[in-house]
Amino acid sequence: MGLAAQVVSVESDTGMMGGTGAHEFMYLNPVGEDTLLICNGCGYRANRQIAVCRKDDATKETPEPLREVATPGCTTIEDLARFLDVPASRTAKAVFMTGSIQGEERFIFALVRGDHELSETKLANAAGAVEMRPATEDEIRAIGAEPGYGSPIGVAEDTMVIVDERVAASSNLVSGANKVDYHCLNVNVGRDFEADLVADLVAVEAGMPCASCGALLQSARGVEVGNIFKLGTRYSEKLGANYLDENGKARPLVMGSYGIGVGRLLACVIEEHHDDQGIVWPISVAPFHVHIVVLSGNRPKGELEAAEQICRDLEAEKIEVLLDDRDERAGVKFNDADLIGIPIRITVGSRGLARGEVEVKMRNEQERNNVAIDALTGHVKDAVRKGQKAY
Ligand SMILES: [Zn+2]
Repeated sequence: MGLAAQVVSVESDTGMMGGTGAHEFMYLNPVGEDTLLICNGCGYRANRQIAVCRKDDATKETPEPLREVATPGCTTIEDLARFLDVPASRTAKAVFMTGSIQGEERFIFALVRGDHELSETKLANAAGAVEMRPATEDEIRAIGAEPGYGSPIGVAEDTMVIVDERVAASSNLVSGANKVDYHCLNVNVGRDFEADLVADLVAVEAGMPCASCGALLQSARGVEVGNIFKLGTRYSEKLGANYLDENGKARPLVMGSYGIGVGRLLACVIEEHHDDQGIVWPISVAPFHVHIVVLSGNRPKGELEAAEQICRDLEAEKIEVLLDDRDERAGVKFNDADLIGIPIRITVGSRGLARGEVEVKMRNEQERNNVAIDALTGHVKDAVRKGQKAY
């Protein structure tokens, strides 16, 4: 499709499809709505939703006594870190979500370090939650927490508390006190509250070290134009879709899913192949191979008939043809031909016809060639073959 050089595969979330692994095929372009993390050291590539990075070594300290301090107006990590003069990495940030876990609406209290962003995909996967959304202030207060000053200490029993593994590995962090204008010093997971789950929840950013090789990760934007899921036997077991093995024993089919984003691909092909005049279709995906422009419409007589004959000759050779026989000025037709971007343009005019010739121009070249009508079909077939080889 003329995109191979710009498309990479990245590790991705299995999401609703489930299964044991997934890859997305990403067209690298700043217009993309996905963020990818890429390692130039070892080739690791992943969607930011699930990308992992090397963890810094947290040193366990002796737990200090839990202490409440007044932090007036410090509702953000930046304010808090400045006010207490501690690095953001020594704070714990509460994120409040709700989601459906095994069919039951649950409040999910996530805790990440203040210098990290939460990956909602990682949180949803850790919690086994679907349809996750940010909790409302009323919902936050209903579990006994305070927006902007949230802490897992003392929240309602049925709250699901999920803590990032870096928070669990740290000692004496600053977190909220569930009270307006107050925070707690020296918060320690396991001593001051129990986590229901410890998991990697961090949304990886450019500049963080690669989990495999330690090189600094880079970020890029991409458009998901395709994907592959390893479904394994997740669906076939439920559906009873079995085959008989060599011993006649029924076994579930092993399945894969292969997706192509047709609409997005069209957008990406055009993004990659265009100029100021319009689209420049690669011949492999062009809606037609040839665009015939009849120079003067139905006058003078003979042009349209000649064009229709060329059209029939080409179609007999499985060449797909768009014929512009509108009664429009030549300039309008040429502009439209450039805009639509069919790879091969053939212009049929009475002057050329008098010499037994038509003009041939490739959309991606400036040069125009006069080609004898007798040799035209062969000429076009060669051009189509050449165009198909280019990708
Ligand atoms: Zn690496």
